[in-house]
Amino acid sequence: MASKKILDLLIVDGTIVTVDKERRVIRNGAVAISKNKIIEVGKSSALKKKYQAKRVYDANEKLIMPGLINSHLHFYHHMHRGLSPENLNGVPWSDFVHRNVATIVEPEDEIWGGLGILIETLKTGVTTFLEAGSYNTDETLEGIARIGMRGKMGRRSFDMVSQGHDMLVDSTAICLKQNERFMKKYKGGVGLVEPCIVLVGMGRCTDELYKKSKVMADHHETVLHMHQANMLENVQESYQLYGERPIEHLYKIGALGENVVLVHMIHVNSREINMLAETKTNVVHCPSTAIKLAYGLSAFGNFPEMAQAGVNVSIGTDASDCSNFNDMVRLIYLTAATPKDYRYDAAAGSAEKAIEMATINGAKALNMENEIGSIEAGKKADIAIFDMHRPDWVPLYNEIQNFVYSAQGESCESVIIDGEFIMKDRKVLSIDEEEIIDRIQFRAKKISANLKLPTYSPWKWL
Ligand SMILES: [Zn+2]
Repeated sequence: MASKKILDLLIVDGTIVTVDKERRVIRNGAVAISKNKIIEVGKSSALKKKYQAKRVYDANEKLIMPGLINSHLHFYHHMHRGLSPENLNGVPWSDFVHRNVATIVEPEDEIWGGLGILIETLKTGVTTFLEAGSYNTDETLEGIARIGMRGKMGRRSFDMVSQGHDMLVDSTAICLKQNERFMKKYKGGVGLVEPCIVLVGMGRCTDELYKKSKVMADHHETVLHMHQANMLENVQESYQLYGERPIEHLYKIGALGENVVLVHMIHVNSREINMLAETKTNVVHCPSTAIKLAYGLSAFGNFPEMAQAGVNVSIGTDASDCSNFNDMVRLIYLTAATPKDYRYDAAAGSAEKAIEMATINGAKALNMENEIGSIEAGKKADIAIFDMHRPDWVPLYNEIQNFVYSAQGESCESVIIDGEFIMKDRKVLSIDEEEIIDRIQFRAKKISANLKLPTYSPWKWL
């Protein structure tokens, strides 16, 4: 009898949602892992015969998912979660938080707040993130990398005042110079976190900044990440300035492309959808922010049509003060359910499509499709394990339906990133979770003392 091949980790007897090309779901499945790579995926009976593992993980009654990809989150926003009045639409909300809070954010707020978001989202199965722009890039990148998650982050850059939003605006030259410096300094990344180029977008950037940033992203082979078409005001402003819609304008100036990631994208018409498909531009849908900040998702959202046209759409939890949560399982639920209602058609969204948006589509957006986003031989061992022996998971007839529509994010039991357990039995192993919570609360007291903002509520607080 041939001897068994030795490997590091063999996950056995679970249900594996591979999201591979055939979209196989393997019951009684196993995943063989050596160092940071997946070696083989198949039935447990076959893999148990073939491999001798240093560590065997019993995944009976567990769901084995590709590590989820949170394609849009913000570090600096975390410290003002719950601080702003909830009756502000997008523009006044942005003004409120940036005028009051963003201007006093210190590097430590971004580091501890950033780690807070990452723990929160990690504990719901996220292994990879795309961050949307920091004020203190160097300290933040070095500070958050120690959690051991995979990700890309950049500098919050904009060079144009739009609708009175003049807080922390820079010149075009400074934005370009700082982004180039950041890309060069952190080439190759720190841990699993790499630099990328981030623009605020949404009428707050000049054509020169858009065009030169696209060239910079091409040169550094990274992604260009920005917000666009979130509100009607954004479209109206674009008509006033350029006589055309936001995405039409980016198309005309050559700022779209395979390495461009556009976030929100609620107000996009069919002509613009064709431009996105033609240029292979990526879109990130943030349903929780769209709903809470009244972007008009139900009235204007065209996400089923984008997917139909072949546009790569992934999803993100966005900022902790407009989403306000970082639970990816809750976000996947919203992604699947909202189009059913706003199209008055239960077939307009599906559990499978929502899972694709949280896994393989996110990998494409980050230009990491060949490395992550599915459980396949040759890919990085980024895996989220969910416990199905829980009230929210039973009765269990269809693991995919229960995952998307019934399960809670906290049913994520363990997370493996790059072959290492970063969370095991709900305990984060890479950093001290209690310390992060205490640090955030300590920073919050300081912010609260400086700002002296009221608690916005019609109720009597004693
Ligand atoms: Zn954002």
